[in-house]
Amino acid sequence: MSELRIALMPGDGIGPEVTAAAVHVLRAVEAHSDDLVLAFETLSVGAGEFLESGDPLSDATLERAKEYDAVLLGAMGLPDVRWPDGTEMTPQLDIRERLDLYQGIRPVRLQHPDLTPLRGAERASVDLVIYRENTEGLFWDRKGRYDPQAAYVDNAMRISRRGAERIMRAAFEAAGRRRGHVTLVDKANVLPAMAFFRTVFDAVAEEYPEIETSRVYVDAAALYLVLEPQRFDVIVTENMFGDILSDLTAGIVGGMGMAPSADIGDDYGVFQPAHGSAPDIAGRGIANPIATILSAAMMMDWLGREAEGDSVRTAVQLALRDPSCRTPDLGGTTSCSEMADAVVSQI
Ligand code: ATP
Repeated sequence: MSELRIALMPGDGIGPEVTAAAVHVLRAVEAHSDDLVLAFETLSVGAGEFLESGDPLSDATLERAKEYDAVLLGAMGLPDVRWPDGTEMTPQLDIRERLDLYQGIRPVRLQHPDLTPLRGAERASVDLVIYRENTEGLFWDRKGRYDPQAAYVDNAMRISRRGAERIMRAAFEAAGRRRGHVTLVDKANVLPAMAFFRTVFDAVAEEYPEIETSRVYVDAAALYLVLEPQRFDVIVTENMFGDILSDLTAGIVGGMGMAPSADIGDDYGVFQPAHGSAPDIAGRGIANPIATILSAAMMMDWLGREAEGDSVRTAVQLALRDPSCRTPDLGGTTSCSEMADAVVSQI
């Protein structure tokens, strides 16, 4: 028997609904396994926690989370709940930095041809993964303040050799397990920090002679992701470009409700949907839980339970084969919990 201890951080908005759906699926996986025991504990984080305690992600909670094998997070933040100076709370970014979760991994896989707005051959398959650097890049300056009366405000893009090397190595390793191709997405023709990023990429590529490489500017990458997504296997890019492109790629596979993600470092892993707390639909039971369910599958992989991860992914695909099994964001009327039930019935 192997017991895996999972910290649940349901968070705000639709976070609790989609997390409950993912736990429902994980419990079904556990029930079908001879040797898997899952233990969950819920930790309170986010805007709701801030209103209770004055801190959306306390040191004590973060220390507690480190004691678990992995963290499954729903979503954090609400538009009206801000720091006293009016700035937005971003505990989801703080957690990445404080646990040094430098790999932002965003798989982009089309679960059913009906779910993409793409036309023609592109519909047949979209299967790529974005490795987003999570700790520096253009987010480096995010905690700076600005004077609204200032004549100008600068934001620096930080690319460190260590930061670039470690995300690139992670991307090359992933390509070795996939189709053997890494695309660097940068803006090396304009920004010195990006030219440096490319220099580091070229050096890391030499360590992996068996992996093919391409180099694409971020503007062209946005175009190709819509016109020819099949040209990509693994994409590696800096923080802000990864942030933007992963919303674009969510769009080509059905929207935010279909986009899982994992934030991984050398010691910890936090798994959460790529979407936010979606306050506009919270509490109505209509959120799409697939992104969170697929994030839970990534968590099982990372915990060394790839068979269970695969069984969740297969169950999602089988459930979505039924065209009437669609939450409202996908054009249907299936509720969040009904979608979870549909996945569970395929486990
Ligand atoms: P954040 O900045 O925290 O990432 P956001 O402001 O970009 O969040 P989201 O909360 O991701 O926005 O929501 C963007 C839109 O997508 C909203 O209209 C929301 O209702 C919709 N959306 C997001 N996630 C889901 C989901 N799981 N199911 C259905 N709709 C969703």
